[in-house]
Amino acid sequence: MNFEVCILGCNGAVPQKGKYPSCQYVRIDTFHCLVDCGEGAQFQMVNLGVPKHRIEHIFISHLHGDHIFGLIGLITSYLLAGRTKALDIFSPQGLEEIIKIQLQANGKFEMPFELRFHVIDTTTPGLIFENDILEVISIPLKHRIPTSGFLFREKQRTPNIDKHKLEEYQLERAEILKLKAGESVQNRHGKHILPQDVLKAPLPKRSYAYCSDTMYAPENIPILKGVNLLYHESTFLQVDEATALATNHSTAQQAASIAHDAEVGLLLLGHFSARYANRQYFIDEASQVFPNVFLASEGMVAKLEILDNKITTRLSDPA
Ligand SMILES: [Zn+2]
Repeated sequence: MNFEVCILGCNGAVPQKGKYPSCQYVRIDTFHCLVDCGEGAQFQMVNLGVPKHRIEHIFISHLHGDHIFGLIGLITSYLLAGRTKALDIFSPQGLEEIIKIQLQANGKFEMPFELRFHVIDTTTPGLIFENDILEVISIPLKHRIPTSGFLFREKQRTPNIDKHKLEEYQLERAEILKLKAGESVQNRHGKHILPQDVLKAPLPKRSYAYCSDTMYAPENIPILKGVNLLYHESTFLQVDEATALATNHSTAQQAASIAHDAEVGLLLLGHFSARYANRQYFIDEASQVFPNVFLASEGMVAKLEILDNKITTRLSDPA
């Protein structure tokens, strides 16, 4: 089952050649979504081969332009393409009004597909979406306007049956289903069989957390505890800590401190200010606190894989 994050944009608000503002494509098996939708998002979807028409959910962290200015373009393209499938958009209060006024100015009062807006409470963590395989939990972030991060977490999957044990115990289909449901059974030879006798160890649950934009917010460490992959904004370096504080952003060192204290698997830094010519400084600074740290970049794909019942994050080079 796929669990991957593709970076479409990870820059701050100031335009730079070859860089794009915040937008990510997250795929977890058959679930396809966007996280933030900065300007140029749909062009990056084309550039990077993101299946635009499979997107059914969009999670918007906050209403600053560098996180939403791609949304009206994407919705308009869906209209032109004759989309009929509903689109669910999760965001802090106010996005519905912004999008609707743009659609109405465009003469779109009747929509051929349902646009469903869901308002996130940005003051407390909460379950905002779930299906059979995953849940999405909001993370209250500390920024200049109401802002939410997102935690994508797999649900526990039903463990697989060990095929050798099936043959050994000569189990029938009804018995297998009972064992999978956690019940014990008696086979045709009168042997009492417990679920743990035939089920393989359950696969570990993979998780990904997105924290942008935010100032240093250690109160979120409990919710981030042990996530396999953390994307955390590091708009500034520690030398500009005062600016970070004044604008409610984080430094690379602060992001690393969150990753260290939450004991995450891997830290991806993003939302870089255009003021720094050399991004290696972000790694130099963060790795002093948390060594397993990398710079996000446009086109990078992070795959969360399970090998020998352990979760590892594999980063591809940008396309
Ligand atoms: Zn912002």
